[in-house]
Amino acid sequence: MGADFWQYKLHFSHFLNQNPTLFQPVGGMDAIVRAFAERIGDLVRYECIVEQIRREDHKVRIIYRGPDGAERVVRADYAICTIPAPVLKDIPNDFSPETQAAIESLDFVEAVKVAFQARRRFWEDDSAIYGGISWTDSDITQIWYPCNGYHQPKGVLVGAYIWSSGPGRRYSAMSAPERLRAALEEGEPLHPGIASEMECGISRAWLNVPFQKGGWPRSNPHAAATLRRGDGPFHFAGDQVTALPGWQEGALLAAHAAAETIHRQFTGR
Ligand SMILES: Cc1cc2nc3c(=O)[nH]c(=O)nc-3n(C[C@H](O)[C@H](O)[C@H](O)COP(=O)(O)OP(=O)(O)OC[C@H]3O[C@@H](n4cnc5c(N)ncnc54)[C@H](O)[C@@H]3O)c2cc1C
Repeated sequence: MGADFWQYKLHFSHFLNQNPTLFQPVGGMDAIVRAFAERIGDLVRYECIVEQIRREDHKVRIIYRGPDGAERVVRADYAICTIPAPVLKDIPNDFSPETQAAIESLDFVEAVKVAFQARRRFWEDDSAIYGGISWTDSDITQIWYPCNGYHQPKGVLVGAYIWSSGPGRRYSAMSAPERLRAALEEGEPLHPGIASEMECGISRAWLNVPFQKGGWPRSNPHAAATLRRGDGPFHFAGDQVTALPGWQEGALLAAHAAAETIHRQFTGR
């Protein structure tokens, strides 16, 4: 009775933003970003770190460090900033106090994932599980089974997908080997002997990723609305300014909205 099975887990795949008919890009989620990058080519400057965001005569001056470590400056009429709020809040800037307060109030989810390569696809061989997710009551929260490569000799499964604050912080504080051990221990009741099935594992705690510092923002409609309004020549995009945090769809919608706002400012329409 204490479980939230009926209220939450049973309906999870029917929430508005978790529909079971969501598509998976071939090659993984990065395929979407790679496809955009191919089309805009050398407009993107990689491995550049924004270090200051300045206002200059109603325009912008961005100071950044290039891949060679040298400081560089770019000046423009407008900037659309998509740097995640936990990083952005510490970058010296000339934002208004209201904008800075909105950025600081965006709290990011302590997301953690752990994946394992299994010697054999024991979930298929022993339990006839073909894709999908097991929910657990442990900190690992979920185990995801691959929906590709059925009956291949080996397979990779997600042994933990965590997004709650307490478990996320606990796993983020662990070393990489500790994380693997803990995830296997917590998976043991569901798949007895799981540890002996695994060849190797990998984990990522987004809180510890220097240019992310968190997975995605917790819902904060006020902060998102403040950032969507922009701040003079500064505009903000990314899933963090939308009602769809944690989804690329949010990031794309925000990009369109920011471009449209600049277009309206520019044309006066
Ligand atoms: C675990 C996890 C699972 C997810 N699963 C899905 C999914 O299944 N489907 C889906 O649609 N979405 C998913 N998402 C969400 C998706 O990744 C985000 O919605 C999307 O990446 C947001 O795009 P963005 O441009 O707002 O931010 P980001 O993609 O975070 O881009 C921000 C960029 O800013 C860069 N940056 C940071 N600091 C600086 C600096 N100082 N100078 C220069 N650059 C800087 C970062 O390196 C990064 O490249 C998932 C996210 C996580 C964490």
